[in-house]
Amino acid sequence: MSIDAAIQAIRERKPRRVVVMTGAGVSADSGIPTFRGPDGLWRNFRPEELATPEAFRRDPLLVWEWYEWRRGLIRDAQPNAAHEAIARLPDALVVTQNVDGLHTRAGSRDVVELHGNIFHVSCVREGNPRMHAEAFPDLPPRCECGALLRPGVVWFGEALPEDAMPRAYAALQRADLLLVIGTSGVVYPAAGLARAYDGLSIEVNPDTSLGSACTFLVPARAAEATPRIIDVILEVQS
Ligand code: NAD
Repeated sequence: MSIDAAIQAIRERKPRRVVVMTGAGVSADSGIPTFRGPDGLWRNFRPEELATPEAFRRDPLLVWEWYEWRRGLIRDAQPNAAHEAIARLPDALVVTQNVDGLHTRAGSRDVVELHGNIFHVSCVREGNPRMHAEAFPDLPPRCECGALLRPGVVWFGEALPEDAMPRAYAALQRADLLLVIGTSGVVYPAAGLARAYDGLSIEVNPDTSLGSACTFLVPARAAEATPRIIDVILEVQS
């Protein structure tokens, strides 16, 4: 399916309230590897084997080495044309599965981080979530109390932040358009959001092999297709 049909639908429906849902693919054009796909392996471990509470209990050093590698990549990365285009949408809610903070760095003001933020940490004993963006001199890092620190992300099997899904569903109920950008749509409950929405929806993903729950599927890279789609949304809204 081409981008033209999606653009035509935007011109006809003139959506005002937009929700944008993103996954790792929106940051692929910033050089941050996705989980699924050819770059999705780190020292022959699969993310599903590292991003779990069990893996952290078994081998906190290994898990922290993986997170420090990803934190370094993300620290050096810049928002790309897709993040920047999304940030130009006034009043859009951005619901992201990403932990890289690039939507906020690009200027989006209303961002729900379903899976937390990789630059946050908390103490396994005291909680006390806080920001720690710099590299740690020693791994695994420890709290002042002596207990281990853990990354401030949601691991497989853990609950999402309490207000995340209610905010996303509330915005979807009012939305005229849902954009779904760069997600494989296999990680629940995030994947359920797109499936629950029955209004006009457009997905951007170069891999079309999984099909789409959206009205239109645009087979293109995020940084290439998103600015074109958002230019048209802004044009019909003006
Ligand atoms: P995923 O790795 O499962 O899927 C990524 C999707 O992006 C794939 O469908 C792929 O075809 C698509 N894609 C690849 N390059 C693209 C591009 N240039 N433009 C558009 N789409 C592209 O990622 P997911 O669906 O987000 O879910 C998995 C989990 O991965 C999430 O929990 C998330 O927290 C975590 N994750 C986050 C980051 C990040 O913060 N940048 C990176 C990797 C994984």
